[in-house]
Amino acid sequence: MSFTPEIFSANASFDSELSIAGVSAGTLIRDFGSPLFVVDEADFKSRAFSFKTALDKHFGIHAGNVYYASKAFLNKEIARWIESVGIGIDVASGGELAVALAVNFPAERIQVHGNNKSEAEIEKAVLAGVGAIVVDSFHEIERVARVAASHKKIQKVFIRVTPGIEAHTHEFIATAHEDVKFGFSLASGAAWKAIEEIESEKSLKLVGLHSHIGSQIFDAAGFGVAAERVIGLLAKFRDHYSDELPELDLGGGFGVAYLPGEESVNADAVLGELASIVTRECGNVGIRVPHISIEPGRAIAGPTTTTLYTVGTTKNIELDGGDTRRYIAVDGGFTDNMRPALYDAKYHAVLANRISTSHNVSSRIVGKHCESGDIIIREIELPEDIAPGDILAVPVTGAYGRQMASNYNHLTRPAVIAVIDGNARIIVRRETEADLLALDI
Ligand SMILES: *Cc1c(COP(=O)(O)O)cnc(C)c1O
Repeated sequence: MSFTPEIFSANASFDSELSIAGVSAGTLIRDFGSPLFVVDEADFKSRAFSFKTALDKHFGIHAGNVYYASKAFLNKEIARWIESVGIGIDVASGGELAVALAVNFPAERIQVHGNNKSEAEIEKAVLAGVGAIVVDSFHEIERVARVAASHKKIQKVFIRVTPGIEAHTHEFIATAHEDVKFGFSLASGAAWKAIEEIESEKSLKLVGLHSHIGSQIFDAAGFGVAAERVIGLLAKFRDHYSDELPELDLGGGFGVAYLPGEESVNADAVLGELASIVTRECGNVGIRVPHISIEPGRAIAGPTTTTLYTVGTTKNIELDGGDTRRYIAVDGGFTDNMRPALYDAKYHAVLANRISTSHNVSSRIVGKHCESGDIIIREIELPEDIAPGDILAVPVTGAYGRQMASNYNHLTRPAVIAVIDGNARIIVRRETEADLLALDI
């Protein structure tokens, strides 16, 4: 029985059972049903705030904004928390924008992303008065310009630049070109051409450059190479227009620990390194340090949330060679956590409702869907006496968990419960079969 506090949310503890912010797993399931996403509210706010503190500390007067990448985990209450800590929010669709606007999120702190924003989405953003739209294609430059002009507005825009860096987990690869659907490539000259087009549009105001190089990044080197290249483009802008762009957004992607023994990126350390790289590069090309913004999603939401499942069935399967694998089927599956199926992502789990004294056996946690790929954890050692009715807790499911959930097999998506100081409340109710049927004509 191994409770590993380092990968649970800050206010999780294990006495005779798992508790989150003072509410036990058994109580949560009894009161709200199963499965559940349980968010540690104080941890969420404190993680969001820690990025702001670190950005302000290391960039001082050059600190821009922290924009929470809402695609990681979004609902109205989370948007309110983000608002309350004083940071901004990134939205990447009309739907995400609608959530932010529904809680009166200050429009100037909303930044709009997406590689294929519809004209309707652009119009909604322009009319709301969002702080900036990050343009991603030549078609979009024309569209945003036209929409802004038609409403007699001047829209602030960033250019999403792809600097030829691919960063995933512990390594990054710097290439000349980048074969991706996002942004304007630096190497091909597309990014420069985008600058020229925007500068020629009266209804657009180019405020800066943006780059986002990937996800689950653990060291600052990849951000550093991206920053160097994009700062080169800022210098070219200065040379050509005798003016400096005031903003540089270096995106998100800060990595988090999913398994015992892994370590999450330390916001303070990585921003400290970034500050020295940015200051040095701006010095090299002789431009003022722009306002630096960042867009963490996973690193804010991921570690704050735990999924609680109830065990439904178990099965022992004899493997070739005589070993046994124990299948533990829970009442959710890849519809509430598609990262293992999508990215081969690894998770940890603990028996949450009691302490077991039985020995561990090789186990596989699976869901209840009609797909053999419906696996939450492929291989984990868990107590042999786990049985129907037990509760399993899977930590670090806040980012891209509930938010990527689907209704395959017509499962209803789990509720989201916020816990703080011994109190638990629903912030997203569980879907019902009536919700599912409501769309059918
Ligand atoms: C997804 C995304 C982020 C957040 O990425 P994380 O890995 O969750 O931090 C930030 N910026 C952009 C443009 C993104 O697409």
